[in-house]
Amino acid sequence: MRVQGMLSRPVTVLPGVGEKKAQALKALGLETVRDVLFSFPRTYKDFQRILAPHEVQPGLVQLVQGPLLHLRERPISQGRRLIQATLGGQLGLTWFVHHRAPGPSFLYRKLQRAEEVWVYGLAKEGTLFPEMTSPEVFTRQPEHQGLMPVYPLVAGISNNQRVNWVKAALKHLSEVHECLPPEVRGRYMERREALRQIHFPADWASYEQARQRLAFEELFLFHLGLQRGQRQRPGIAHAVDGELVARFFARLPFALTEDQKEALRQVAVDMEAPRPMRRLIQGEVGSGKTIVAEYGAVKAVASGGQVAMMVPTEVLAVQMAQRLQASLGPLGIRVELLVGNMKAKEQEAVRKGLIEGEVDVVVGTHALITDKVEYRNLTLAVVDEQHRFGVRQRAALLGKGNPDLLVMSATPIPRSLALTMYGDLDVTEIRQLPAHRQPVDTRLIHPDRRADVYRYVLSRVKQGEQAYVVFPLVEESEHVDLKAAVQEMEALRQGPLSGVRVGLIHGQMGKEKEEVFQAFARGELDVLIATTVVEVGMNVPNATVMVIENAERFGLAQLHQLRGRVGRGKKPGICFLLAYNVSPQSRARLEVVRSSNDGFFIAEEDLRLRGPGDLLGVRQWGQPYFRLADLQQDRELLHLAAQAAKDLLSRDAELARFPELAAELDTYSI
Ligand code: ADP
Ligand code: MG
Repeated sequence: MRVQGMLSRPVTVLPGVGEKKAQALKALGLETVRDVLFSFPRTYKDFQRILAPHEVQPGLVQLVQGPLLHLRERPISQGRRLIQATLGGQLGLTWFVHHRAPGPSFLYRKLQRAEEVWVYGLAKEGTLFPEMTSPEVFTRQPEHQGLMPVYPLVAGISNNQRVNWVKAALKHLSEVHECLPPEVRGRYMERREALRQIHFPADWASYEQARQRLAFEELFLFHLGLQRGQRQRPGIAHAVDGELVARFFARLPFALTEDQKEALRQVAVDMEAPRPMRRLIQGEVGSGKTIVAEYGAVKAVASGGQVAMMVPTEVLAVQMAQRLQASLGPLGIRVELLVGNMKAKEQEAVRKGLIEGEVDVVVGTHALITDKVEYRNLTLAVVDEQHRFGVRQRAALLGKGNPDLLVMSATPIPRSLALTMYGDLDVTEIRQLPAHRQPVDTRLIHPDRRADVYRYVLSRVKQGEQAYVVFPLVEESEHVDLKAAVQEMEALRQGPLSGVRVGLIHGQMGKEKEEVFQAFARGELDVLIATTVVEVGMNVPNATVMVIENAERFGLAQLHQLRGRVGRGKKPGICFLLAYNVSPQSRARLEVVRSSNDGFFIAEEDLRLRGPGDLLGVRQWGQPYFRLADLQQDRELLHLAAQAAKDLLSRDAELARFPELAAELDTYSI
């Protein structure tokens, strides 16, 4: 048993955190003091040195102090202003601001009053002297010296507040224990010291040591979680294909692709073998992965087993349940839905059906893994859209019996990476798309033509088709808060898209989100304006147009996922990528998506150009897959961690000798 200390108390024990702040922190996934301590800075501002304008070096981010000269402001387009100045005549400064009202902008007035300023930003080579575009500007010397942590924020919470709360949480550092056994810890920094340094690094070298330590720790825990007890269990030998499976195939409305056939063959071998199946099916959106799950389900039911299919959202659960009812129902297989917002009585009935064996297949969300759900004989678990779930949820589902596991992912991950990421899963790839699927016509559009794009949207809506408009998720940026994004979405609804039925959803909405989704799926809305929440598996065949605003802010794999939402019906899809401040690099990245429709190729390019953090497509959910580990940079660390986990488990499978580690593993989730 662990002593319940301050760290496990709710955030409201921190100074200045009331109910409201606690709610906001919850949106960031922070509920306890411990969460605050273990939520690391997104980046740091390097305030270690204050430079004079003539000391500035192009190519570096730096803090510069000097007199503000040559200040001027002019309009450049409707609602946009350009402010220019120099710092002591030796560093060029440029800001772009949105300002519609008459008179000078807020920033211009602030600058006008300042004689001396501190600017922080990336300096670039200029014609006469170095230049900074949109640097952060202070009219007083920043208080913080050294490396200032910058935390992920949401509306209602400032970075300063987070800094203070972390400081308060660090007072209880004595409650944190070293969790790595000595032989594993080796040369890594001690845990408490690493926590201190990751928030307030003495310098970049200490930061890197702290990061390495904590990154190793999370990779190690991750692998420990993956590997622990997974293969030792006995498996289920499902029966070879019989009459029910034959009837299932006879009813298929199409011929299988070669890749699908191969996937089914592999699943058949796995399921019939007396060892547990642990298989990941990777195939991009529309590649026809569902058939693999359906086949597995029929096979399980034919062997007298039950099937649980877990998907990340209620909308998807509803869609999937309907789909399986249509395809499996006629075979006499009973498929039921189980989600949190069903009436208690209905849930009760499904649970009863599961324990009594009346229900063959259940489709649901996390509701499937609550303690209340028991199965008579669960022999196949299917987890759709794998990266939305952590190892713990997967393990919880597996704990409901001892089922074979099929994981489906629509975000293809390069094989090399998949093997390190999901060391315990065998990988099947479905690369070939069903013949009728046409690639989505993708266009890179200059913002000057934004109005044309929305006119085009309207014209397709007039023909009875539907469209998505996607905005980058707000938490991504500290500058654009939720309010600004929602305002922009509203402006679109009332401006270019007025006159059609528009629904609006964003990540921080509660229940209504699902309702808006459903209305769109039923065709009661023409356009769905959304943050990236539409990404996962939405299937509305009547949607043909996708507009992606600020496309440069998305990962490539994510863009590819998003556009896969359109053109799922008979009519071809079209996708507009609107990119605003585009650097040559981001143009090159977007070009990859524009010119290729091969999700695996795009994933490889994404890995090459940006690194795996983004590739995994989870960043946008506000909760990084790994807090610190970067799978590109830390491959070596990943191998070491995987090996260390394996070694340790081979000596002590139950971690009996490592209670701290076992406890850590219990609280660990990704
Ligand atoms: P995924 O889950 O991989 O995104 P789905 O399984 O939902 O893809 O399949 C997308 C669509 O393609 C579905 O409407 C499905 O019925 C259809 N489909 C699947 N396989 C084939 C095939 N071999 N030939 C024609 N259509 C197919
Ligand atoms: Mg799917």
